[in-house]
Amino acid sequence: MGKTLVTGAGGLVGYAIKQLNPPDTIYLTRKEVDLTDFDKIDATMAHIRPSRVIHLAATVGGIGGNMIHSGEYFRSNIMINTNVLESARRCGVKKLISFMSTCVFPNTCTYPLNEKDLHNGPPHPSNFGYAYAKRMLEVQSSAYRNEWNCDYIVAIPTNIYGPNDDWNLSDGHVIPSLIHRCFLSKKTNSDLVVWGSGKPLREFVFSDDIAKLASWALDNYSEDSPIIFSSGIEISIRDLVELVASKMKFDGKLIFDSTKPDGQYRKPSDTTKLRKYLPDFVFTPIEEGIEKSVDWFVTNYPNLRK
Ligand code: GDP
Repeated sequence: MGKTLVTGAGGLVGYAIKQLNPPDTIYLTRKEVDLTDFDKIDATMAHIRPSRVIHLAATVGGIGGNMIHSGEYFRSNIMINTNVLESARRCGVKKLISFMSTCVFPNTCTYPLNEKDLHNGPPHPSNFGYAYAKRMLEVQSSAYRNEWNCDYIVAIPTNIYGPNDDWNLSDGHVIPSLIHRCFLSKKTNSDLVVWGSGKPLREFVFSDDIAKLASWALDNYSEDSPIIFSSGIEISIRDLVELVASKMKFDGKLIFDSTKPDGQYRKPSDTTKLRKYLPDFVFTPIEEGIEKSVDWFVTNYPNLRK
């Protein structure tokens, strides 16, 4: 079948793919190749000559990072994606899967979010730069399919979490930031400060599930239109915080900081297409995923990305 190249392999999904231990897989991290530099990725691709690519590399963050680094997230993601897809095409890659996120959908649209609504309106202002850059992945994949018959597919997962996450307190996503903050609150015997009202609803997906779904999609999915990877189960930020606190055995006070943003109230996703292909796929329950993430964090502190 040839080699599979994974970009962005140092992140949480890359880590989950490594645990699956697929054969003939080469892992590329940010430290090895700067994907914003076309000549570098093109030379790397020509040297490795993969037949398949799992393109995970991206400049990402949670609501904090997205609001502060709107320009950087746009610039970096546009360049990374344009370069990776083009070098893959030149090198004759047979199959490529790349990833967006449900946060790139229009701010105002009908729920649940459906793959076909991706471009039907501007994204939420909190992630303007990231969302527009990421939407171009779908555009580029589709355009390459039209002109050059490239079998490039796009997955749209909801908020991914798991071991080897980015635990940054200001730029990170909600689960890793909360686990980290809860750990520090416990250590210093202080209150746990949560951003926003706790009312927004989100869907979360454990990184191991994304690794399995990515591997499935490489073999079985070839539609021009993207596919949402989600269980479709929503949880409020308040319930999530209580779950994290209980898994960390934190019994201090929770403070909801209303000076921090809530972001979109909810963004439930339509899992019809995924279920059409995989009616029996079992997603990791959030209780189990949080427990595994907490265990990983505690074991690996202080050598982690934060
Ligand atoms: P989003 O789903 O794209 O909005 O990304 P996030 O993973 O950043 O989740 C944001 C939601 O979690 C918002 O409703 C925030 O108010 C809430 N939240 C609560 N505490 C935190 C925190 O420590 N970090 C982040 N990023 N969000 C938090």
